[in-house]
Amino acid sequence: MNMIYEHNNKPCIICVAITGSVPKKENNPNLPISVSEQIESTHEAFEMGATIAHCHVRNKDQTTTSDPAKFSLLMEGIHKHCKGMVVQFSTGGRSGSGYERGGMLSLRPDMASLAVGSNNFPTRVYENPPELIEWLSKQMSDNEIKPEIEVFDLSHIFQASNMFESGLIKQSPYVQFVLGIKNAMPVDKDVFDFYLKTIRRLLPKSEWCAAGIGRYQRIVNEWCIRVGGHTRTGMEDNVRIDKDTIAPSNASLVKIVVDLCNKYERPVANFVQTREILGLRPI
Ligand code: ZN
Repeated sequence: MNMIYEHNNKPCIICVAITGSVPKKENNPNLPISVSEQIESTHEAFEMGATIAHCHVRNKDQTTTSDPAKFSLLMEGIHKHCKGMVVQFSTGGRSGSGYERGGMLSLRPDMASLAVGSNNFPTRVYENPPELIEWLSKQMSDNEIKPEIEVFDLSHIFQASNMFESGLIKQSPYVQFVLGIKNAMPVDKDVFDFYLKTIRRLLPKSEWCAAGIGRYQRIVNEWCIRVGGHTRTGMEDNVRIDKDTIAPSNASLVKIVVDLCNKYERPVANFVQTREILGLRPI
C-alpha cells in the first residue's frame, strides 16, 4: 500500500500525541486530562490537519492508567467527532505495568504503539522484556491493529526488522523514532541520518515518522518534512510554543507542523491518504 507517492509530493502524516503520561496541568493548564477535554482537543487538532491521535488516558488526579473503559470512551468520542481520524493507543510502560499495558487492545483501535526493546528514561529504566513485547505484538496481530514501532535506540530498528522477518509483525512496520528523551537517544542530525539509512536498508518498504521531545519538537518536525517522512507533535512531547509561551492547545502545535509542510511544499495527508499510506482499513 505504501510507496505510492513520489518522495517530494508524498503527503505528510501528522500525528498528535494529545496528553502522554508525563506532563501535568501544572506544566500547562491547557493540557487535556479528562476524556471530554481530550476529545475536544483532538477535534481541534484534527481540524488543523492531524490525522493520527496518539492516546494515553489519565485518572481524575492526573495519574496514569491503562483503564480500558476510559480508552473506550475516548475512542468513541474521536470516532464521533473526528470521522476518519486514526486512533492509536499507547501501550507504553509509563501507563501501567506488564500485561496491563495491553488490556485495552481488545477494543481494536486502528493502531497501537509498540516498544521493542529497553533503554533508560530520565529517572528509570524503560523495561520492555522480550516476552512482553511478543505478547503485545500477538495481541495486536489477533485484533488486526497496526503497530507503530517505537525506536528509542538503534538496536530497535534491527528488532523491528527481525519481528517482520519472523512474521510477528504482519504488515510492513510503521516506525517512529523518538529523539531527545534524557538518557536515551539525543537529537543529533548524524544519528537521525543514520537511522534513515538503516531503515531504508533493512525495511525499504516501511514508512517512518519521528518525534522530538521538549524544545526539540520543531527541529525534528522540520527534519522529517524535508526528507519525505511523517512527523509527530502534541503536548505529550512538548507543552510550549517557544521558551516564553505555553501552547494554548494541541492544535497550535499542529499548526506549526502544517506551516512547515507549506514551507517545504509537502502536502498534509488527509485521513483517506493516511489510511492508504499506512495500509489501514478505510472508513
Ligand atoms: Zn505516548
